[in-house]
This record gives sequence, structure tokens and C-alpha cells, in this order.
Amino acid sequence: MSIILDKINYSYNNGTAYEKQALRDINLVINDGEFIGLIGHTGSGKSTLIQHLNGLIKASSGNIYYNGADIYDKDYKMKDLRSKVGLVFQYPEHQLFETTVFKDICFGPKNLKLDPLEVDLRAYEAMKLVGLGEDMLDVSPFELSGGQKRRVAIAGVLAMKPDILILDEPTAGLDPRGRDEILDQIEKLHRETKITVILVSHSMEDVAKYVDRIIVMNKGEVFFDDEKRKVFANY
Ligand code: ADP
Ligand code: ADP
Repeated sequence: MSIILDKINYSYNNGTAYEKQALRDINLVINDGEFIGLIGHTGSGKSTLIQHLNGLIKASSGNIYYNGADIYDKDYKMKDLRSKVGLVFQYPEHQLFETTVFKDICFGPKNLKLDPLEVDLRAYEAMKLVGLGEDMLDVSPFELSGGQKRRVAIAGVLAMKPDILILDEPTAGLDPRGRDEILDQIEKLHRETKITVILVSHSMEDVAKYVDRIIVMNKGEVFFDDEKRKVFANY
């Protein structure tokens, strides 16, 4: 898996009086198995950037190559990209809508029209990977704590077997203990599966302990992009 962003620019309300440039000349290469922290203040363009990676937002200019294929080519199957690039939104409530945890996690793979047995297997496996016990199977996702809800949302995305997992502010709304638990779980998941992970956060402190590479955004630009050890080398 590799994703190449080549001179990506994006403006909201392009061509109107309300035009707002959110991304400027973004060049990035994301390789298989990386564990990346995408950091920046609110409004720096993080959400806009990650939505380009799975095709939810189309660049105003520039190119994106997924495994070498130009995703803006008219023959490119954007639907494949949506299942390969798993996005977990900041507020898991937006991603939960079934009556039980198990049904919720099955929703994605079911939509892929997989064999029902395969759907169940994937859901069990995903639950294990995020540390949800089988006692959770029949619980309503809406009765869960913030941290548990987030685990269900992550499991639902993992059950699609994406190549890359992108988590937008996975610690939002959690207390310090919940924060550590979910980040530890994500690190374990990365270690065990070697899936590419992008952790999006406005807090360097939150993610620096976990990731290998740090990308800092500022006012729509990539301000810094390097291995973590180089960030802290001068301190
Ligand atoms: P975050 O920093 O957590 O991404 P924001 O406050 O920047 O949160 O944005 C929250 C939501 O509001 C996002 O879905 C974003 O797309 C939308 N949003 C942010 N700024 C604007 C704006 N100026 N006009 C319309 N929607 C916006
Ligand atoms: P972040 O995720 O880092 O908080 P965003 O990608 O949400 O940043 O926002 C980048 C810029 O784009 C901000 O200036 C924000 O106000 C603006 N923006 C985000 N969403 C919208 C939107 N739907 N309409 C207009 N402007 C937006």
C-alpha cells in the first residue's frame, strides 16, 4: 500500500465570495505499515486532508495515487478506495446506528456483499483487535461509554479489512485514563497487524509517545514531516 499526494490544493466554496483555501501544495508519501501522527491546531486542515485520502473530498488541483493508480482517473473505482482507506470520525456516534454492537460491526462487511460466515468471522476478529469482549455482542452501542463507542466504531472499520486506518481525534471527549487506554489499544493493533495507521490530533503530547513519524500541519500547509526521533533530537 502506498498513497502519494502530489501538489494537492483544496478550497471550500471554490469560486465564490466565501472561498476558503484549506490545503496548499500538499506533497506527501504514505507507505505501508507506517504509524503516523498528523498534528496541527484546529483549522490547520487535518480533517480536510484525511477526507482526500479516501475520496470523500476531491482536490481542487493536484493528484493522488493509490498503489500507483490515479484516483481521479475517470475509470478509477472510488468505491474500492472507500473500503481500503478506513476512516474513523471524531465523534463515533456518527458511525454507530445499529441496535447491537455486533450488528454495528457487521454493517460494513455486510455491505461488501461477503459471505455471511465471513462477515461474522471478521466482526469477531475486529472485536478482539480493539479489546471488546464477547459480553458486548448484544449490547446497544448507544449505552456504551465514550471509549467503548470508539472501539465499536474502530472495529466496524477494521471489519472492512482496510489497508490503512485513519483515526480523527480518537481521544476527543475521553478522560485521561480513557485516552491512554484507547491509544494503547491502537498501538497494540498496529503492532499486531502492521496496518498503516494515521492518528489525527491537535495535541502533540497525545500522540508523540506512540507514532513513528510526525506530520505537522499549519494553515493548510505541511509544516513539518519527519521521523519522530528527529523532532525531539534537539531537546
Ligand atoms: P476539528 O478541528 O475537530 O476538525 P472544526 O471545528 O475545525 O473541528 O470543524 C468541525 C466541523 O465543522 C468539520 O466537519 C468541518 O468541516 C466543519 N467546519 C469547520 N469550519 C467550517 C466553516 N468555516 N464553515 C463550515 N463548516 C466548517
Ligand atoms: P482541522 O481538521 O485541522 O481542524 P479543517 O480541515 O477542519 O481543519 O479546516 C481547515 C480550514 O477549512 C479551516 O479554516 C476551516 O474553517 C475550513 N473549513 C473546514 N470545513 C469547511 C467547510 N465545510 N466550509 C468552509 N470552510 C471549511
